Amino acid sequence: MKVMIITGASRGIGAATAIAAAKSGYAVCVNYHSDEAAANEVVAQVQQLGGTAVAVMADVSKEADVVRLFSESENTLGKLSVLVNNAGVLETGSIETINENRLRRVFELNVFGAFYCAKEAVKRLSTKHGGSGGSIINISSVAAKLGSPGEYVDYAASKGAIDTMTVGLAKEVAEQGIRVNAVRPGVIYTEIHASGGEPERVDRVKSSVPMKRGGEPAEIADAVVWLASEQASYCTGSFIDVSGGR
Ligand code: NAP
Repeated sequence: MKVMIITGASRGIGAATAIAAAKSGYAVCVNYHSDEAAANEVVAQVQQLGGTAVAVMADVSKEADVVRLFSESENTLGKLSVLVNNAGVLETGSIETINENRLRRVFELNVFGAFYCAKEAVKRLSTKHGGSGGSIINISSVAAKLGSPGEYVDYAASKGAIDTMTVGLAKEVAEQGIRVNAVRPGVIYTEIHASGGEPERVDRVKSSVPMKRGGEPAEIADAVVWLASEQASYCTGSFIDVSGGR
């Protein structure tokens, strides 16, 4: 059974990806940071589908936690096939409201965390290190292209870094059997908006989406599972915008 680690999978896009991956036959490592009950609920949903999952607590913005996450996943579920770099955070407010704490919080999780996880994944997947290959899928955002003026230019910049990492790492490890791709969601109904300071954000901005609606986490999950699959075997350094045309 192929093993997929999904960071930040206790809710939102990560949880939806865990369910979609389980339906496609993956054993899933459900990483979470603070909400153990929610992560256990995702594991229970996977098990109800007849699948295999384990919840592992790790603060992905800390390299030591990431190292432990990957070894716990390996010890419980076996050899890794796919990493989904999904955990992310944002805070709402224009440039005048940005301070060192906010920048650290956003970049340490969204950027440093994705790098720590990619490093651990490459060490296990690379044919250079005796691995069998696999894939990494980064959850970026259309914010990387739009810049999110007046809302969170820092968050948009962190996703710009993820886009660049996707392009560069894809080329770096292409000959090592590893594909690296990204999904750029638009505005999706999850709790990230409430925890970032604006619970009703999706409904506020949906009129600016060409399709005139917000997206559902499952619509992102399907793109992630496709990029992980053999159907995407010639895709690397690629981006799928799942954003209703935004
Ligand atoms: P969400 O509902 O806020 O969920 C965030 C998840 O990340 C939770 O499972 C949370 O776990 C986990 N997490 C937070 N801090 C963590 C840490 N330090 N270490 C490990 N896990 C941590 O977010 P979402 O909307 O599903 O977003 C998922 C990804 O999609 C993010 O990268 C986000 O930037 C991106 N995205 C979202 C949207 C959108 O409109 N929703 C649009 C574009 C891109 P705990 O609750 O257990 O702490």
